Amino acid sequence: MEIKDEIVAALKILGDPVAEADPGPERWSSWIREVEAYSQTFLDLTRKGPAWWPTESGHVGPSFHLQEDAVPLAAIMEECRSRIDFRGLNPASGGHLGYIPGGGMPAAALGDLLAAVTNRYAGIHFANPGAVELEHFLVHWVADLFGLPSSAGGTLTSGGSIASLVAITAARDASGEPPSRWMDMVIYGTAHQHHCLDKALRIAGLGFSKRRDVPMDEGFRMRPDVLVAMIQEDMAEGLHPFLLLASAGTTDTGAVDPLHALADIAHAYGLWFHVDAAYGGFFRLLPEFDPVFAGLERADSIVADPHKGLFLPYGTGAVVVREIKHLLHSHAYEAAYMQDAYRDPETLSPADLSPELTRHFRGLRMYFSMKMNGLSVIRRLLKQKILLARWFYHAIREAGFETLMEPALSVVVFRWPARDEEVDQWNARLVDRVREDGRVFLSSTRIGGRVWIRLAVLSFRTTLEHLEATMEVLKRQRDLALSTH
Ligand SMILES: *Cc1c(COP(=O)(O)O)cnc(C)c1O
Repeated sequence: MEIKDEIVAALKILGDPVAEADPGPERWSSWIREVEAYSQTFLDLTRKGPAWWPTESGHVGPSFHLQEDAVPLAAIMEECRSRIDFRGLNPASGGHLGYIPGGGMPAAALGDLLAAVTNRYAGIHFANPGAVELEHFLVHWVADLFGLPSSAGGTLTSGGSIASLVAITAARDASGEPPSRWMDMVIYGTAHQHHCLDKALRIAGLGFSKRRDVPMDEGFRMRPDVLVAMIQEDMAEGLHPFLLLASAGTTDTGAVDPLHALADIAHAYGLWFHVDAAYGGFFRLLPEFDPVFAGLERADSIVADPHKGLFLPYGTGAVVVREIKHLLHSHAYEAAYMQDAYRDPETLSPADLSPELTRHFRGLRMYFSMKMNGLSVIRRLLKQKILLARWFYHAIREAGFETLMEPALSVVVFRWPARDEEVDQWNARLVDRVREDGRVFLSSTRIGGRVWIRLAVLSFRTTLEHLEATMEVLKRQRDLALSTH
């Protein structure tokens, strides 16, 4: 008894930290109102403000600190305002036309808020069946969109990189080859495949496997004829061709590989056929691209990024595999402390399908956004981005710029045709000038070793006005550079 009384006394000294941490109805309402006001200001500036806010040069960055006493919400939001949200790139802006822009659909933010408040456990079916069923439903919607059979399944991840790791691991394990053979396994891709695939291969222990860059055609698509020749050569040398990495929308140019022809080859030679559709996948929602994506339904695994083509906030990727058993093979483990969760072995849990156990309930943001917007809005946004990229392609050519190719999806690659010895420097400088102007944000890349400027349209807020502004800035900066030359 004595010891229990001492403990009770010690508990009293703590005060009531639960009441301090759990705000109660009035404080919660006032927090939400303050966040609402902040988000209104942010959204207002995002709609009419720049895509790039200057970053202080030579500044090592602001210092954050923690202290013992609670800090009012207003002070923390002031830190967000002065130190976080108005420096550098605004990825929520319609003027974000670099890399692969994402979204930040406000409807999704409501799902995130509720997922954090309710804290559903989306890792294990036994714990929160509704959360897990919703994520399975969304994953199956993605698998159906890509035409995979009913044996398919998958999981929502933090993004395309982790989704790729899940797919690569499944491919490796499905090969049944022991590590002693991995050095002789051959992986085929192109020089334009996303670097996250090389990262995933390395993490999965395949960093020393043979990697072949298959040449591309004039549209930057993998050449099936050369692929066949390379596979046959490797087989003749006693190597084990095992994995084919295709792209449905490369980051550099938006090119979609000839998926049907590649699927034929993968099938004929027993290769696992992976398609990286992180950027391009959700253009599958537009029937006009049926011919472009034909063959996607024959993939063994596909990665798509809802935080790109479904305009969701960052932190939403997806991987689907043709046979769900391959994900279970790689990821289903049992642990004694989890025994209560195994009562219903028929029910799949996300924890058995990826490296994650406890995880964000990311399905809720996806569901909120897709339900509150309706598929029609998402389809029209995607169609709008395609049309805007085509508009820009014609406008930039009319202005005398050189283009690499007709846009396959919503990426346009172009440059100013300066004299050969200075064309790289010229265009790199032009991108810097456009960023300094701030209204829009473009990025550059190297193709065939030369600098090209990329414009990628996939922010849901991008409209014709942003592209008109881009043309205006590009022409002005070009004229300034030409006149001072
Ligand atoms: C963005 C992208 C990735 C990587 O996905 P993250 O979500 O950034 O991890 C992979 N492949 C392609 C083609 C991409 O555009």
